[in-house]
Amino acid sequence: MQPVYMYHGVGDGAELTDTDRVYAVSRARFEAHLRAIGRSIALARQLYENRAISAPAITFDDGHITNYTNALPALVEAGMTAEFYINTADVGRPGFVDWAKLGEMAQVGMSIQSHGDHHVFFADLDLDRLHAELERSKKTIEDHIGQAVTVLAPPGGRYDQRTIDTARTLGYRTLAVSRPGLWKHLDQPTVPRFPVYAHTSAETVASYRSAWSPDTMRAILRYRAARFGQRMLGNGGYDALRNRMVGAISGRAS
Ligand SMILES: [Zn+2]
Repeated sequence: MQPVYMYHGVGDGAELTDTDRVYAVSRARFEAHLRAIGRSIALARQLYENRAISAPAITFDDGHITNYTNALPALVEAGMTAEFYINTADVGRPGFVDWAKLGEMAQVGMSIQSHGDHHVFFADLDLDRLHAELERSKKTIEDHIGQAVTVLAPPGGRYDQRTIDTARTLGYRTLAVSRPGLWKHLDQPTVPRFPVYAHTSAETVASYRSAWSPDTMRAILRYRAARFGQRMLGNGGYDALRNRMVGAISGRAS
């Protein structure tokens, strides 16, 4: 059993204009997290090679430019690897990584996987559009990077059974979701992840290794409370309320 961490941007201030700042950690904090995590593996590679889950996994959603400018050098310095879920339609747009940078990241051992073609909630799409999002992003990454794309991270953590079924049909092995919990075995339809926020400490990151630590229990309870709010208000109402509560100016969900 190992934790999987969900990061977004890494850095401070100006670089993060297009980012939900709630999720962005500073470079110094990220480096402290890496020291606390110690060793990491990439989900997709473990799945592809059918290897046992032997260490925590570090993942990034959205393909922010700071994944390249800040996270990558910190990872290389620490001798660690991570997995990056990108929206293929956003690659090369201002504030996002481009194919040359993603190629460099893959060259030094990083895994590049799918966050869909566009940053849309899969559960809201009709089946044709859902199929197109999953198929196009997988093929585009495989064509550009040359790594097998076997992991799909649904934007906003929003997915349904059709998403799981369609992903399986297209050759994805699992979905990396935003539900806190530990990764237990290689054939899970979904892999839980612990969201990392701007304020998440290195101690909390370390304590997610244990299923029964107070931080782990708190993360699971917080998630359940948020899910309850989502069900009561619907996606749109929940997002509006959440954005007001966190003071987020960006409408972009994580
Ligand atoms: Zn996202």
